[in-house]
Amino acid sequence: MLELTGIRKIYRMGAVEVAALNGVSLRIEPGEFTAVMGPSGSGKSTLLQILGLLDVPSDGSYRLSGREVSQLTDDELAGLRGKMFGFVFQQFHLLPRATALENVALPRLYASGNHADPARARRLLEEVGLGARLLHHSNELSGGQQQRVAIARALINDPPIILADEPTGNLDSASGQEIMALFSQLNARGMSIVLVTHEWEIAKQAHRVIRMRDGLIQSIEAVRAFGRSSAPGPRPAAIAPAGDGSPGPVLRPRELFAHVKEAARALMANKVRSGLSMLGILIGVAAVLAMLALGEGARESVQARLASMGSNLLVMRPGAAQVGGVALQAGAVTRLTLEDARAIREQIPGVSRVAPTVMERGQAVYRNDNWNTQILGTTPEYALMRASQPVLGRFIREEDVGKRARVALIGMTVLRELFGDANPVGELIKINKINFEIIGILPEKGATAFRDQDDLIIIPITTAMYRLFGKDYVETIEAEVAAASQIDAVQSAAKALITRRHRLPAQQESLQIRNMAEIQAALQETNKTMSWLLAAIATISLLVGGIGIMNIMLVSVTERTREIGLRKAVGARRRDILAQFLIEALVVSLTGGLIGIAAGWLVTAGMATMAGWAASVSMTGGLLAFGFAVVVGLLFGLWPARKASALSPINAMRYE
Ligand code: ADP
Ligand code: MG
Repeated sequence: MLELTGIRKIYRMGAVEVAALNGVSLRIEPGEFTAVMGPSGSGKSTLLQILGLLDVPSDGSYRLSGREVSQLTDDELAGLRGKMFGFVFQQFHLLPRATALENVALPRLYASGNHADPARARRLLEEVGLGARLLHHSNELSGGQQQRVAIARALINDPPIILADEPTGNLDSASGQEIMALFSQLNARGMSIVLVTHEWEIAKQAHRVIRMRDGLIQSIEAVRAFGRSSAPGPRPAAIAPAGDGSPGPVLRPRELFAHVKEAARALMANKVRSGLSMLGILIGVAAVLAMLALGEGARESVQARLASMGSNLLVMRPGAAQVGGVALQAGAVTRLTLEDARAIREQIPGVSRVAPTVMERGQAVYRNDNWNTQILGTTPEYALMRASQPVLGRFIREEDVGKRARVALIGMTVLRELFGDANPVGELIKINKINFEIIGILPEKGATAFRDQDDLIIIPITTAMYRLFGKDYVETIEAEVAAASQIDAVQSAAKALITRRHRLPAQQESLQIRNMAEIQAALQETNKTMSWLLAAIATISLLVGGIGIMNIMLVSVTERTREIGLRKAVGARRRDILAQFLIEALVVSLTGGLIGIAAGWLVTAGMATMAGWAASVSMTGGLLAFGFAVVVGLLFGLWPARKASALSPINAMRYE
């Protein structure tokens, strides 16, 4: 069944070559029990590793069930390891965090085409006398018990050959005898066994004893009769079916589940470390989410505020006088009048509404309450232009302007300060010691960074100019243009009109005009810059998070090198190991991502409340952030995972 011819194995350590095997030829028949003896360093373990496909010979031929092993692919070798051999090592090599049952079932994970039989692992443990220890972790078992778990694991895929390298070397003699009794039983059932030992007491239970020295077989001694007749008959399973080690699907569901469970276990075993590496992803995702939600909230809020200002609005002030090309103070030459406002309204096509304004601070008094606020004088059309229709009462009318009526509308802040909850409409207040009747309450506009837009009293412009401030001019003329396309034309027509009316020199700028569309564009530009800034912060944070994941994965790979070796020894293919560590990276990034979404949502809600924005976390935002986390986890987990999967089984198992 196994046939070695002229096998050599050379280890290279720098310039020094060690020939561990120096031309070994050997046949092992189905059902045969072979013991290998020899001094330390004679090549026994090397021979066993080559037999079990854990290592490749430097030279010579190895035929396994008629197939030349050196011609098999990586995946085929992995498949054969799982199917043909059961390994028992001197150091047991159990997974420390797994239960006895899980350890025994491990090779099943990688066996292709095996229908899972969940009861088999339990039965095997009962068979080796550990029926009462199924759920114990390996560090809760004695050495002899651990070795029995390892033997049960070697049997799980029902392999035709057991390879045992000094299985009793780490055990007391009583446990050693129990283990040997198990091997004898297995052999009696028809399994081939190759067993490395130092003790003649043990070796003499085999059919034959091979003695090795310096990488060569010195003698082969028959101890018990072995022949086709004396053996219980080769079992059909001893002949490996064709198509062994066939690739199979990339990842079976049962395997996926096992990997996720394994990943969760590994992460739970290092809670602080996992938590810290999750933190980066968490912050990144939360930042992305908050960025999107707040950016959107800010945009909406700015847009709403601009809409309340009126988008086709022109704000005109007198132009600055110029002396030799140097601009002087605004209004130094020209003063705009109510007649200018009327002329703009009537003579310039495309102007739909006009509101002249004057503004000064004033003292408002109601009974014993006193409030210093902005007093704005304007005309009826202001209400529509600036979305200031009163929520209660009425706005200023033309007749109020005509007869300089002492009527006033108050903003929410003034209402709160002077009246509290009481209805003020019809009440009298004093503004700069003159009595005014309150006719309405202005709608709430909110506060900008610079001022409270609700800290305001509106009165007729004529009342403001002649009764209150003693001015015979207006400070600004606001004009609404019917269509955005007419804005440029209206601006130049207004300038020409004022130049003509005030007989100004042609080269002088008659009006300074602020255009709301321009302000809007500027604000939107600022908004975009903010978004980019936040995006950059979020990206950096995600990168740092990714590097954190890579770090924890690299540590994890290094820490678990021996575990990786063991998994490969029991049949794991490269992609199985790759999948295991990728899933672990994914679990970290997904968990971090999920908590990040929750955190981002909280941050958004908190900041939205503070800023008074209607910021809400969007579905797109959540998906985007989640996608980010997944991609980062995959990208940064890939390298450590590849590193782990590329390890050769025996080198990984030897790792200290
Ligand atoms: P045994 O199991 O009989 O004690 P081994 O097969 O482990 O012997 O080793 C045979 C020889 O090969 C020894 O001289 C040992 O030092 C050497 N050797 C074994 N493994 C390695 C290795 N990974 N690198 C270099 N030399 C090795
Ligand atoms: Mg050895």
